[in-house]
Amino acid sequence: MAVSDIIIIGGGGAGLTAALYASRAKLSTLLFEKLTPGGQIALTDIVENYPGFPEAITGGEISQRMEEQAKKYGTQLLYEEVKSIHPKNNSFEVRTSNQSHETKSVILAMGASFRTLAVPGEKELTGKGVSYCATCDGAFFKEKEIIVVGGGDSAMQEGLFLTRFATKLSVVHRRDKLRASPILQERAQKNPRINFIWDTVVEKIEGDKKVQNVKLKNIKNNSVRDFRTDGVFVFVGHDPNSSLVKGLVELDEKGYVKTFNTLKTSVRGIFAAGEIRSGAVKQLVSACGEGCEAALEAQAYLEDLPS
Ligand code: NAP
Repeated sequence: MAVSDIIIIGGGGAGLTAALYASRAKLSTLLFEKLTPGGQIALTDIVENYPGFPEAITGGEISQRMEEQAKKYGTQLLYEEVKSIHPKNNSFEVRTSNQSHETKSVILAMGASFRTLAVPGEKELTGKGVSYCATCDGAFFKEKEIIVVGGGDSAMQEGLFLTRFATKLSVVHRRDKLRASPILQERAQKNPRINFIWDTVVEKIEGDKKVQNVKLKNIKNNSVRDFRTDGVFVFVGHDPNSSLVKGLVELDEKGYVKTFNTLKTSVRGIFAAGEIRSGAVKQLVSACGEGCEAALEAQAYLEDLPS
């Protein structure tokens, strides 16, 4: 079995940038992605804060360009889910459902996945009015009334995008202060289609074949009321995709991968970059920066490995 220099797990901004740097350094580079390249950014409508694009760029386009750029220099992209990683003597065996690969180093770039509300009706009505992706599902809500749950950057950014379709959008937030950055808060607050329901959580999502109603609970006075809606978009944060490496590398209390001196994990030869990493700032530009850094650290590690 041929031994590759680097296996990168996850094809978001961090993974694709690591792949670009590793393959340009002439290291044999495999990148595993279980869905489509781009990670969370591929599901984002527009990216306004990636330097070099003053006119903004769509999440889909920047993901596609990053993929193309990594492949151009020799990265081999495999659309498979990695199932396990087994340390060997100065190498690792990386297994998918179909095959097994040996590599001298690994970069973990699996990112994070959106959280659900975990309320009755959510699971049953997902795809029937409950959604976690405005870019994917927004167009189904033309001339409809919807709610967005959450008060962070995702809720504001995706909510603003959804006002292209929905006539009325209510942001349901569990506090009376938004977490989102000031620029997004201001835009959302100025948008005439958006209104805010403060100190409130969704208790239940109801509907026969599709979403028709939510039960909203005011957490200050515990009152519960019915609220008619055609759709529920949930943007309440993320959890790390680290189950693959649980028990292999050290994780923090929330399940993010701990790194030491700079992007090294607790296992020699395994590095971590982007949102999977404990302490990462969760921006595309920093994920890409970390991808670059992890590839350079892996390169230095490979140079020191006994041949
Ligand atoms: P986030 O910043 O963690 O915000 C999650 C929001 O959901 C918070 O307002 C939180 O309320 C609320 N929430 C959490 N659990 C909840 C629950 N069970 N029920 C109801 N509400 C709940 O997540 P995010 O907005 O997805 O952003 C993640 C990261 O990506 C952030 O660092 C963000 O800056 C970044 N991001 C950046 C951009 C951009 O730069 N344009 C765009 C999107 C995301 P509390 O406020 O009360 O905790």
